[in-house]
Amino acid sequence: MKKEIAIGVDIGGTSIKGAAVTSEGEVLDVFAFDVDKEKNQEEIIYQLIDEIKKYTAIHGYNKENLLGIGVGIPGTIDTVNGEVIYSNNLRWNHLPIRKMMEEGTGFEVRIINDAKAATLAENKFGAGKKHKDFVLITLGTGVGSGIITNNKLLTGNKGYGAELGHIMLRLDGEPCTCGRSGCFEAYASATALNRDTKRMMNQHQDSLMWKKLEEYGCLSAKVAFDAAKEGDKYALEVVDNYCMYLAEGLLDICNAFRPEVIVLSGGIAKAGDFLLSKVVKHCEKYHYGYDGLPKVEIKISELGYDTGKIGAAALFF
Ligand SMILES: [Zn+2]
Repeated sequence: MKKEIAIGVDIGGTSIKGAAVTSEGEVLDVFAFDVDKEKNQEEIIYQLIDEIKKYTAIHGYNKENLLGIGVGIPGTIDTVNGEVIYSNNLRWNHLPIRKMMEEGTGFEVRIINDAKAATLAENKFGAGKKHKDFVLITLGTGVGSGIITNNKLLTGNKGYGAELGHIMLRLDGEPCTCGRSGCFEAYASATALNRDTKRMMNQHQDSLMWKKLEEYGCLSAKVAFDAAKEGDKYALEVVDNYCMYLAEGLLDICNAFRPEVIVLSGGIAKAGDFLLSKVVKHCEKYHYGYDGLPKVEIKISELGYDTGKIGAAALFF
């Protein structure tokens, strides 16, 4: 069978990356550019259109050999009207991106929330391959999610649904970016981990986390995770607490959707087996509820850096 090709674009807060992707998940030539913070949302889209025009001209893509352009964007996306309603990360508001890009490039354009793009990618080509019931959770600045039930991406009305980051874990808990308190995101995001790391460090000047912070130059998930791996008891307390909340959120997801697999992606998932073993241990205590309930496998993302581009392109496969 002839391989089909679409362009997948991954829009992030600091850079925009894209590539032609085949229907078998191969990433061909990549393009990327930094987002100029001085530019407004329309100017950034015009720049993206120019980059795509150059890219398609150089590589000889036209309407005959390219299915279209898929775009993954962090934030609230109206997939029916092709608009970015709001993106906290990008500071974009009511942007008719699909219309602008279709007029600018001449190709068909489809858009999707970035976590849902990652879900499609992992489900077609990565850690969730061949699973008809599948959930992906991104652990980054926020907590994003995508749900596939019976081989179909759950979108909710106009694509606004499946935001598992805002299920509540604790009434009157930590404040969340959505205006409520105690959301999964307020405990399981990298932002939440950094908040708890800072609190613990301020209470314990002798923690190894201070050395890690000096070494890395900025606060990230690596500060607590690497110090915990080396046995720092304060870092271990932060990491164990983080993993407990993450696991409790995953258990809610198991109970609601009973997927075959849950995949963890995003910055914190880079902690790999150290994170996974703690989360799985907590989940296994409560996975079953009663004997005979199917086990939910929890895995780390397999596609890494290319996930967003592959998932956006996969809107055409
Ligand atoms: Zn929330």
